[in-house]
Amino acid sequence: MNKIKEEIRDLSEKLLYHQSLYYIKSAPIISDIEYDALFDRLLYLEKEYPQYAKEDSPTKRIGVDLDNQFAEKEHKIPVLSLDKEYTIEGINKWVQKNIDFAERQIGFVLEEKLDGASIVLYYERGILKEALTRGDGKKGNLVTANVKTIKNVPLKLTEPVTLSVRGEIFIKKDDFTKYNKKFENKYSNPRNLASGSLRQLKSSLVAEVPLKMVAYEGYFEAETIEKNTELTEHIYNLIKLDKLGFEVSNKPVYISDNKETVKVLKSASNLIEVGRIEDIKTFIEKRVNSRDKLQYDIDGLVIKINDLDIRESLGYTSHHPRWAIAYKFESPMAETILLNIVIQIGRNGRVTPVAELEPVHIAGSIVSRATLHNLEYIELLELGIGDIIAISKRGEIIPAVEEVIEQNPKGFIKFNFPELCPFCSSIFIKEGAHHFCKNKNCPERIKRSIIYFASKDQMDIDSLGEKTINFLYENNYINNIADLYSIDYENLLNEEGFKEKKIQNIKSSIEKSKDKPFSIVLSALGFDGIGKNRASDLIKEGLNSIDKIIEIAEKGETELLINIGGVGDILADSIISQFTDKDILNQIEKLKAIGLNFEDLSKPMSKSSVFEGQIWVITGTFENFKPRSVAADEIKNRSGKVTTSVNSKTTHLLKGESAGSKLKKAEELNKIIIDEDEFMEMIKNDKEN
Ligand SMILES: [Zn+2]
Repeated sequence: MNKIKEEIRDLSEKLLYHQSLYYIKSAPIISDIEYDALFDRLLYLEKEYPQYAKEDSPTKRIGVDLDNQFAEKEHKIPVLSLDKEYTIEGINKWVQKNIDFAERQIGFVLEEKLDGASIVLYYERGILKEALTRGDGKKGNLVTANVKTIKNVPLKLTEPVTLSVRGEIFIKKDDFTKYNKKFENKYSNPRNLASGSLRQLKSSLVAEVPLKMVAYEGYFEAETIEKNTELTEHIYNLIKLDKLGFEVSNKPVYISDNKETVKVLKSASNLIEVGRIEDIKTFIEKRVNSRDKLQYDIDGLVIKINDLDIRESLGYTSHHPRWAIAYKFESPMAETILLNIVIQIGRNGRVTPVAELEPVHIAGSIVSRATLHNLEYIELLELGIGDIIAISKRGEIIPAVEEVIEQNPKGFIKFNFPELCPFCSSIFIKEGAHHFCKNKNCPERIKRSIIYFASKDQMDIDSLGEKTINFLYENNYINNIADLYSIDYENLLNEEGFKEKKIQNIKSSIEKSKDKPFSIVLSALGFDGIGKNRASDLIKEGLNSIDKIIEIAEKGETELLINIGGVGDILADSIISQFTDKDILNQIEKLKAIGLNFEDLSKPMSKSSVFEGQIWVITGTFENFKPRSVAADEIKNRSGKVTTSVNSKTTHLLKGESAGSKLKKAEELNKIIIDEDEFMEMIKNDKEN
């Protein structure tokens, strides 16, 4: 049998076995890290070899906890897991992405993620009818009798409301210790005891376990709630759940920049904390630091979108809602062997030692290199070649070597940090914690600057990736950035891997890059201290052409640069010296001749009020407006309003490709529907007037 197929089968069997130990028997025998490693490897193989992936693969299930001793029943609501992030930066990115999506001020709610057993309760007219385990997300086990023994689960609510509640069943640390003592410490942790208890066949035994439940989501049936309570926000749902008799998440944080709502909530409830979007980091850090003082275990935090209409438009993937994300405390780690350390030189000359690793799976990808930051870090870790080390991957960031787990059994092999640049033999200069190659003609630095220039975030020449540029540079096809535009790519036809089609792609993406605006060109050239933001700042402050910048440099007018986007004395001097450097000026001349944009010709947009009083909804995708917010800006700049959902107040719907439910609703409500061409026409007419 095929080796890959065999490995997939083995991994699937192992994972199913461990899943059943974890979720059903509540007695895992491997650590979460070991489990994740198996899971990640299977996930990787299934991605690479989809032909062998099976429909019933353990990766396709969300921690299935179905037990055939209990009856199964379909859930009325989607009961999925959560997507995960390991860094606050990642959480902030996610938050920003959703703010951009909503195109209006929205709120978020931060809650503790309890480490217990997931449960769904169904109430009809205020009476607890059924309790289901999470199961496979679509159906769960009926454990109603057992859940009814939990003392803080309300059997009858204070109002005859029909609703579904998601919650977590858990045991307090103290209660666990006391209970476990009676059984000679049979249970390894509170979570295993909690989920194991739910599966007891005798409810009288369950009643003896000190279980508790916390509610964190409520899905109300609107007709059964008293009038005047508009449940359109999650935070009010939580407050409502509390009033109905549930114990809800401990001090959820309502996060929003909407001052009015914040004010109302601050006075309305001592149940919650409130804060602003920029405080997310502080709130997360506070919760992480006070974690050990809690009377129960949490394994992370959850950030959810507060506005239920936005949640609805975001929807779900097959395993998680798009409107919530977990911040996990433990970042994924893996063990591997350090094979070697190599020296990398950045385009600005900074030296980074990089660990070459025995390839290992971590968080869904294979890792064979990890950063070691600098020489001091290597010394701090007392790292030697051949050592067994732990590496971590936090979010999207490059994996890092965390610690030495076991020294090389053959003895310590010290890494000799070179004194000279391996690429140009210049002596390394130490500045702060880092070493630098200060030779601006260092071939490695030049190569790195070409790679940077073409990269996705800069000129975005997508057919010229790192590999291709490496090849072109090492084989002397190119020696600098300007060469990218002047060489005859047809000559590559004789080279292996360069077919006609690839060459055409390169040529067309090179051509396309000539349209990039001056701000991108300026940052792509990789001047010290001029990234994307500072490039825009310089342009905004009137330095909107390369000639103006060069002129300032020639006259040595540092004072004109200082204070633009935080430029200080040292940086101003550095910018001046870069723009008077002959080689650099030479390169700029060449690129100018090629036709790159060295001037920003855009005029500030004129304000008009043609859309005044109109409320637009934008749906679908557009040819000329990417992302969609560009179209929203066109409307807002003309005094129109943009909202996300179609309702009686909506006046216009801007319809793109594959518009769905919003279009339907707008048609039903007889709203004015505008397609992309008509919209372009409207804008054009407005500009002409
Ligand atoms: Zn060098």
